[in-house]
Amino acid sequence: MNNALKTIISYGLWPALLAGCLAVTVFGMHIGHGILVFNIAYLSLAVTLFFTERLMPFEKSWLGNDGQLMADLSHTAFNKGAVQVLIAVGAAFGIAEAFASDVGGHLWPTHWPLAFQVVLGLVMIEIGLYAAHRLAHEWPLLWRFHAVHHSSKRLSFINTGRFHVVDTVASIALSQPILFLFGAPIEVFQLVSATTAFIGMLTHCNVDMKFGWIAYIVNTPTLHRFHHSKKLVEGNTNYGENLMFMDLLLGTYYNKPNRPSANIGINEPMPDNFLGQIAQPFRRRPVQNQNLSEGSV
Ligand SMILES: [Zn+2]
Ligand SMILES: [Zn+2]
Repeated sequence: MNNALKTIISYGLWPALLAGCLAVTVFGMHIGHGILVFNIAYLSLAVTLFFTERLMPFEKSWLGNDGQLMADLSHTAFNKGAVQVLIAVGAAFGIAEAFASDVGGHLWPTHWPLAFQVVLGLVMIEIGLYAAHRLAHEWPLLWRFHAVHHSSKRLSFINTGRFHVVDTVASIALSQPILFLFGAPIEVFQLVSATTAFIGMLTHCNVDMKFGWIAYIVNTPTLHRFHHSKKLVEGNTNYGENLMFMDLLLGTYYNKPNRPSANIGINEPMPDNFLGQIAQPFRRRPVQNQNLSEGSV
């Protein structure tokens, strides 16, 4: 591969994959099968990243089997199930409709082009997502749950969904309701959720890609690798889920040219299996959050 082509691929792959997945999802919504087509796009992205991680890995040592495949997939499925239940319960009690019609349904700028509405939605939920993520690192009680995500010893698209279900519910509870509160249409809600899912998988992938100014706007694998670092100065940064403006505003943005260490994970015990990981936050033990554990390293 010549150098010019390499450069084009390393800078163009991330935007092309995100734009492609979103275009397919929008098409699915147009033909009335939004959720089905989103799931096809999501699985296709996973397959694409599986091969791309092997063709152009950022960290070769992360390609091996870490023994966590079943745990990662179980967390992913469990979280997906929990989110579906939350949506079903919300719909059954008419929570969304109540918010939309009684509180602020008329506030949402439905006359804007759909893409602008989605960007507005992403900006609005980012405030809650940032708060939930930062709290998960700085509040020892929540760190117990978030530690499951950070216990991964490698980064790959496979561990995108490795979150304790309590961690997932907390970040949804602090972010999604604002869209209902302002009466965002269902298409906006769907596209904001789809964008979050695609960016989440791209953020965790072990593909050697490059980012210029994009890394000041959206969350990228380069930024998130620092977030998974064991070093305090790198790890307690880049809390943004999709967008980085909260980190830039609050001084937690970290983007240096140095290569983050491949030795990632946490400095506390975590069971190897899914059920043990689900139970771990509820076990009696001295609480140690990332800040405290990092201090001694
Ligand atoms: Zn984190
Ligand atoms: Zn992560």
